[in-house]
Amino acid sequence: MELLARLRELIGPEAVLTSPQDTEPLLTDHRRLYHGAARAVVLPATTEQVADVLRLCHAAAVSVVPQGGNTGYCGGATPDASGNSIVLGLRRMNRIRSVDAANFALVAEAGCTLASVQQAAATGGRLFPLSLGSEGSCQIGGNLATNAGGTAVLRYGMMRDLTLGVEAVLADGSVLSQLAPLRKDNTGYDLRHLLIGSEGTLAVITAACLKLFPAQRSVATAWIALPSANAVIELLALLREGSADRLSSCELVPAAALALVLQQIPAVRDPGATASPWYLLAELTSSAVEPLDELLEGTITHAIELGHATDAVLACSEEQRQNLWRLRESVPEAQRRAGASLKHDISVPVASLQALIERGSALVASLVPEGFLVAYGHAGDGNLHFNVNQRAGTDASKFLAHEPALKRAIHDLVANLDGSFSAEHGIGQLKLQELAQYARPAELAAMRGIKQALDPLGILNPGKLLPQP
Ligand SMILES: Cc1cc2nc3c(=O)[nH]c(=O)nc-3n(C[C@H](O)[C@H](O)[C@H](O)COP(=O)(O)OP(=O)(O)OC[C@H]3O[C@@H](n4cnc5c(N)ncnc54)[C@H](O)[C@@H]3O)c2cc1C
Repeated sequence: MELLARLRELIGPEAVLTSPQDTEPLLTDHRRLYHGAARAVVLPATTEQVADVLRLCHAAAVSVVPQGGNTGYCGGATPDASGNSIVLGLRRMNRIRSVDAANFALVAEAGCTLASVQQAAATGGRLFPLSLGSEGSCQIGGNLATNAGGTAVLRYGMMRDLTLGVEAVLADGSVLSQLAPLRKDNTGYDLRHLLIGSEGTLAVITAACLKLFPAQRSVATAWIALPSANAVIELLALLREGSADRLSSCELVPAAALALVLQQIPAVRDPGATASPWYLLAELTSSAVEPLDELLEGTITHAIELGHATDAVLACSEEQRQNLWRLRESVPEAQRRAGASLKHDISVPVASLQALIERGSALVASLVPEGFLVAYGHAGDGNLHFNVNQRAGTDASKFLAHEPALKRAIHDLVANLDGSFSAEHGIGQLKLQELAQYARPAELAAMRGIKQALDPLGILNPGKLLPQP
């Protein structure tokens, strides 16, 4: 029997989409860099159905491209143009299987949106701290497959740090299941960590047991004006020490990004701090009821005395706090509305941030005369989105033509500073060449060996993450 007929038989005709109206939006990536084709978009509702689909595709040697919320930045969830693959969407697997307050754990299926997991944790009196601008659409399976980061990594870590166990289906349809809320388990290789960050190339993740934390009862948020980017490193240390490590978020926003947001996003208001080249959005949180505002204000006053800050605005209401976060989260959208941009998701050791910004700014100025730097993001983790926007009135094709030279120069600089050219967005199809360029041969050989062992036919997300030998 033909593959699509077998799939319909296995998971129901309504779960096998073939009409362009249904499939087209799922065949283009979020940034519209890639467009692919597929035999069908297949939407299993249970782990058993995922296993059935993979068994069938394995036997027929048909490629499978797992897809979550399709918010990834590297084209990882978009099939190639051959039209031979199926896209396996997880959105129907959207049940919270359990919220276990006593064990500070929750089991969610892969197709749950991140926001629904945060909500389920909150309803159970707990916190799930992963937080991304895309949280209303991205899914837990996608967060695991990309080892997502976001704005609370400084305090709580990345998705890898927040995961106790996973359930996943291997290429041949066999099911791995470790969903017990165990904090300690040294029984052999840790398959969970192998699958987290594997971008759909080693298995389809169907569920996960996630770590929860005590709910937050106090929060204090400030918009801090900095005299220079250099001040970030000192200020970060002061904020961590002065708050007994209650600092949850530390986001850098340059004046250029503030201006773009105020121009492009009508709902955001200027926080009103003294005009400065750089700002920091800092947030303290605590599970106790305590005067964090006083603590934050005292630390910032000390920072101003030391010359590490020039001014600050503390959020006095939840509405003001939301405005500060909206400002920060709107930077990518404001950049998009303002025209073409060149993007780099890079990280360096925190103490090298100043060197990155100084040397990177000089590279941008010399290599891209039609552009200006908008380097913003998770400074507390040493992770910046080192983006360059096109200046108004310049020629877009000239601007875009600088991309290869700029990318090489920025990624060389990052390598020189012991950093990463892929801090939190993964490799997908966008950064294959970069992995080939910067990974050590032994690392690539080990990755290829693992892929060969788990997916010998290469049916899982071909052309992603691993560059061709
Ligand atoms: C506005 C905005 C803000 C963002 N902010 C951040 C941020 O701060 N930090 C950050 O890390 N990312 C951020 N992202 C990027 C993106 O949201 C994350 O990478 C997210 O984790 C992707 O989840 P998704 O469900 O959309 O995955 P998709 O885009 O659907 O897929 C991403 C990759 O995971 C694989 N995959 C998806 N589901 C599964 C599964 N169940 N099993 C196996 N493989 C699977 C896909 O094949 C693909 O390779 C942002 C994106 C946007 C649009």
